[in-house]
Amino acid sequence: DRINVAIDGPAGAGKSTVARMVAQKLSYIYVDTGAMYRAVTWYLIRKGIKPEDHDNVLQTVRNMVIELIPGQEVQRVLINGEDATPHIRSLQVSGLVSQYAGIESIRTRLSHLQREMALVKGVVMDGRDIGTTVLPDAEVKIFMTASVEERALRRYKELKDKEQVSLEQLENDIAQRDHLDQNRKISPLRRAEDSILLDTTSMDIAQVVETIVSHCRS
Ligand code: C5P
Repeated sequence: DRINVAIDGPAGAGKSTVARMVAQKLSYIYVDTGAMYRAVTWYLIRKGIKPEDHDNVLQTVRNMVIELIPGQEVQRVLINGEDATPHIRSLQVSGLVSQYAGIESIRTRLSHLQREMALVKGVVMDGRDIGTTVLPDAEVKIFMTASVEERALRRYKELKDKEQVSLEQLENDIAQRDHLDQNRKISPLRRAEDSILLDTTSMDIAQVVETIVSHCRS
């Protein structure tokens, strides 16, 4: 029988790479909820709507058409028909996404969409609040962590050829994002009590994938 798999954890723990591979092994659909928060953030920044402008955020988010197109390599996110995917990993979006992700109207809208996508079962979903809030009944829940230094190093290797960044800047970004994600009022980043804790600091990707898949099959 198909199940749902929730993978949560702080920024840069390698959730998306691992979740995509787990989904592939199980022939499940991978849903990257961070990409949804990033796409909404990109759209609002471009419209000049600041996170503190709650009324404007509410109006815009209420009327927004959000489409998720799953794919083997990347999952695309369209906002009002426009493909946000090429823009959502920029440093600008990464730097602001946690502020927008703290806004209730955005969280309500996106969690609702995420629950709908999981109704059919056979979904691997990664994020911050999947095991605690979005899919509290997921059959397998994983909480993936790694040290801040290791997470920054992983991001650095990913970004260094694309953007001018220093390891130190990435460590600061990640630490700040952790802080905002853990301390926001609505659905803060927390480990679900019934989740499996996986510290990946000294594990490679294949080991992590294997561990999660074996939990899904048992
Ligand atoms: O996973 P990723 O690093 O792409 O997520 C970007 C940001 O989106 C996170 O730092 C967090 O602020 C927000 N997010 C969230 N809830 C989720 C997924 C992401 O608040 N389920």
